[in-house]
Amino acid sequence: MPVMSSTSNARVPAMTRARFPQAGPAETAPPRSGRSGRRTWAANVITAVAALGFGITLGLGLTAVTRGSLAAPGGLATAAGQIAGLTGSYLLLVMLLLIARLPWLEGVLGQDRLVRWHRRLGPWPIILLGSHAVLITIGYAEQASIGPWHELGILLTSYPDVLMATVAFALLVMAGVASFRAARSRLRYETWWAVHLYTYLAIALAFSHQLADGVSFVGHPLARLFWIVIWALTAGVVLVYRVGLPLWRTVYHRLRVAEVREEGPGVVSVICAGRHLERLPVAGGQFLQWRFLHNDLWWQAHPYSISALPRPPFLRVTVKALGDFSESVANIPVGTRVAIEGPYGVVTAHSRSGDKVLLVAAGVGVTPMRAILEDLPAAVDVVVVLRAPTREDVIFHHEIARLVQARGGRLHVLVGSRHQVRLDSRLLAKLVPDLGTRDVYVCGPEGFTNRVIGAAKRLGVSSERIHSESFAF
Ligand SMILES: Cc1cc2nc3c(=O)[nH]c(=O)nc-3n(C[C@H](O)[C@H](O)[C@H](O)COP(=O)(O)OP(=O)(O)OC[C@H]3O[C@@H](n4cnc5c(N)ncnc54)[C@H](O)[C@@H]3O)c2cc1C
Repeated sequence: MPVMSSTSNARVPAMTRARFPQAGPAETAPPRSGRSGRRTWAANVITAVAALGFGITLGLGLTAVTRGSLAAPGGLATAAGQIAGLTGSYLLLVMLLLIARLPWLEGVLGQDRLVRWHRRLGPWPIILLGSHAVLITIGYAEQASIGPWHELGILLTSYPDVLMATVAFALLVMAGVASFRAARSRLRYETWWAVHLYTYLAIALAFSHQLADGVSFVGHPLARLFWIVIWALTAGVVLVYRVGLPLWRTVYHRLRVAEVREEGPGVVSVICAGRHLERLPVAGGQFLQWRFLHNDLWWQAHPYSISALPRPPFLRVTVKALGDFSESVANIPVGTRVAIEGPYGVVTAHSRSGDKVLLVAAGVGVTPMRAILEDLPAAVDVVVVLRAPTREDVIFHHEIARLVQARGGRLHVLVGSRHQVRLDSRLLAKLVPDLGTRDVYVCGPEGFTNRVIGAAKRLGVSSERIHSESFAF
């Protein structure tokens, strides 16, 4: 039987676990009105800077082309090949920067959006670099009046670094193929990730080939300088933000597992203890990449949202067993060291544009909502809707009820199968009659999230007031 229960200032069972005490509603996190304006501004700036760099790169390619070189045998193919090589390499750098975890970029645009752009751009470097290889081989073959296969043999054996660049291209193609939707869904995440790591090697291998063989660079010190600077900057940014900052945070906060606690069927909370957690710049709704340095788990980092604001010296995440990694989390011994990367994510109390909020969560999607609830200032009028198949699956029911009670909000708990309880616009309008005046936060399985977003839009909530976190990249 479906069960729907509502709590409004009702008595709720006291928290039985004292190690991770409750806090009242926060006094911080003002609404960040104009967030979408900041986003558009940031997106425009990034596009303009990237386009400028693309223009300069194209310019470098064109300066190497003369009437004479075009008229020579194979001249056209060679020129087109050089330009394709330069622009393809440049786009690779842009792709790296998009996922370099630059904090200010992530803070404005959000990691999921940057990853989406990175993915959309993905095919272009491969197409351009593939064209570069083919066109250069044809152009040089025509120039030398020999067959393209013969020319390819010469290029591989006698041109500096071409063999290395060919290996680099093969690695890129491998990463590209692994990222196709059809291939990606068949691969384990870890395999996809490991293949992707090779692209860094590919990019490093290709660099010396460009400087040694590129006609735009040989004998052109300014062009060389420009190229070296943009490569060095990209490498620096990647090293600082993807390696240096996470290492520093890990060493500084020295997190260790203090307790692993069951929260529901297949769901555990991992409570870590560390130093200076008051200095970790994390907001409710954000996530970190977690690496538990235990047995064969140490090499995998997985994203988990904090399920409560830090209570120094403690920090908590809550994990649902879905695959091999998340299943092993329940068995991580107390004392295990933890490496972190982040925090990331823009779905926080700051993203709202007003002081009336609806939080909707299904299943383990409750984790960021629980932390946002705690982070919202006391004056914010909050309605929370929790959705789960059974009562046991309602994670943090008591904690959320206490937080809602403390701020005089309303909590609706919807229990039952998908067929019994459909959170559509009719039900949503009944539960939250003033929905159109609220910011809506939603987190849960993709189908659920999309349905709630669709229903909220139909009930008059504009896209800018809908904030959702996807648990799938
Ligand atoms: C921003 C974000 C926040 C999240 N917060 C939580 C949370 O608070 N609680 C929770 O239980 N789950 C959360 N998840 C989901 C969690 O990261 C995955 O369930 C977990 O990584 C699955 O790993 P696995 O090896 O156990 O399962 P697998 O069977 O290997 O994978 C299950 C699914 O998770 C994806 N996945 C696997 N590894 C990763 C990874 N390292 N990075 C991204 N996706 C991966 C796979 O593509 C697959 O779709 C979050 C995911 C994201 C993207």
